[in-house]
Amino acid sequence: MSLDATRAEPHRDEARRHLEHARVSRLAQLQALDETVHTTDAYLLSEQKSAMRRVLKEIEEAFTRIDDGSYGTCQDCARPIPAERLEILPYTRYCVACQRRAT
Ligand SMILES: [Zn+2]
Repeated sequence: MSLDATRAEPHRDEARRHLEHARVSRLAQLQALDETVHTTDAYLLSEQKSAMRRVLKEIEEAFTRIDDGSYGTCQDCARPIPAERLEILPYTRYCVACQRRAT
């Protein structure tokens, strides 16, 4: 497998594996938070839970993008998102530059 081919067309199975891994670890974290009965900060706990659910939703959306072929393409500038970024943030919709502009 050549690097250029990977870059031109992000490998779907690889992307699915990354997303699957991200989903499993987020679900485990959410479960752990759900099982936290005794906490000194209920507000922080609920914030953490909703952040986790937001990420899970983004992961679901990323799976949809793999199916429709738009995965790995920046939703803003339409340039390919670098593979290194997708490895760290497999559910991201934006390249670094667009993400920075958005936040
Ligand atoms: Zn972009």
